[in-house]
Amino acid sequence: MTMLRTLIWFAVAAVAMLGAVWLAERPGNVIVEWRGWRLDTSVGVLLVGVVFLILLGVALWLLYRWIVGAPGAFLEGWGESRRRRGYRELTQGLAAVAAGDGAEAQRHARKAEQLLSEPALTLLLSAQAAQLNGDRDGANRAFKAMLEDEQMAFLGLRGLIAQSLRDGNQAQALDYAERAFALKPQTPWVVHSLFDMQAQLRQWHAAQDTLDAGMRRKVVSADRGRTLRALLLVERSRAAEHDGHDADALGLAREAFGLAPERIAVTSRLAALQIKAGDRKRATKTLERGWTLAPHPDLAALYLEASGESDPLKRVSVMQRLAARKPDDMESHLALAQATLEAGLWGEARRHLEAAGGSNPPVRVCRMMAELEERAAADPAKVRDWLARAAEAPADKAWRCTACGAHHEAWHSVCESCGAFGTLHWRAPGTYGQILPPGSAPRPAIGMTAMNTVSGG
Ligand SMILES: [Zn+2]
Repeated sequence: MTMLRTLIWFAVAAVAMLGAVWLAERPGNVIVEWRGWRLDTSVGVLLVGVVFLILLGVALWLLYRWIVGAPGAFLEGWGESRRRRGYRELTQGLAAVAAGDGAEAQRHARKAEQLLSEPALTLLLSAQAAQLNGDRDGANRAFKAMLEDEQMAFLGLRGLIAQSLRDGNQAQALDYAERAFALKPQTPWVVHSLFDMQAQLRQWHAAQDTLDAGMRRKVVSADRGRTLRALLLVERSRAAEHDGHDADALGLAREAFGLAPERIAVTSRLAALQIKAGDRKRATKTLERGWTLAPHPDLAALYLEASGESDPLKRVSVMQRLAARKPDDMESHLALAQATLEAGLWGEARRHLEAAGGSNPPVRVCRMMAELEERAAADPAKVRDWLARAAEAPADKAWRCTACGAHHEAWHSVCESCGAFGTLHWRAPGTYGQILPPGSAPRPAIGMTAMNTVSGG
């Protein structure tokens, strides 16, 4: 391009030079007379004059264009640079948030706010900066202001939910979660947190509605939905029994058992109500089915209760019937060890404890071994030995939350430490899957993971 332009300039200059030479070789005079003026000059000078006038005209035209067009172009450039600086502040602010530097983030947020006329974007940064600085009111103000903007309202609600939970204001959090659910009912964290909150507030029917909506939109898998529905029925059955409606309670428990017989809480609920209603035969059947799927000491205790036997030897044969449903399971051996120990069958008890404990017996087996040694042989050295081993032994199976790992003495539908629903399973430590979907939930007060955790137990 430049090359071509240079060539053209050379050509023009060459033509001009040739023209000048041509004119110089052919001198001539020009005389102009106009209203008493007389111009007497050579052709060369006249041509130079004409060229000069043309150049002057062009220069004046360019000057005019610059004067008229300049302010607009100038302002445009200024606005552009202002926006660019605004976005730079925004970017730096977000980087500061990511780095956890609240003060830096707030400084950039304030500058971005001045430079940009996009409140929605700067609000998000302001809210996050305020949160980092522990400025609760500032964060709340920013989140609430986001509700005004259609595109940012959902994000604002998410911030407000987390904030309300941190403040321990569950009713407020539920209100925001319901609004978020109305806006985007297909978003997993919204469904999960709304469901957990409703369960925590014991709104079983509302939780059921949320669960149904989540299953319709495939946010909750059919399998997970089935289990959660069964556990909601267990809670409703408890409430019905508490209100004195035993028949309703039994009906709800039966429905739950039809859905999730593999959940210990479901099996024990139905069996307990069947025993209470005097239907021991059905209770026995319920417990045998439940034991096959998920054996647990509570089920063994209910089975003995349903048998009505009080003679220790007969209780051993009762327990043998139940254990036969899952003969190799540790819980079967432990239940038989307990029954034989109570019946004074030391050899049998030892055999089952050894089978239950394997090469590295857990605490419960060590303690029962100590009890066995004490009662069978009264050998203090062996008792001490087993008690010492118990102190070092691997932890027993217990009710553990698959969402937060917390340990619980008894089963609850809602984890007391993280608030997740249906996450308590009968497990040894470390055997549960820690399935926390990254960034799927406002942290930290509540377990939004209820529907993402593994089932069973
Ligand atoms: Zn938990």
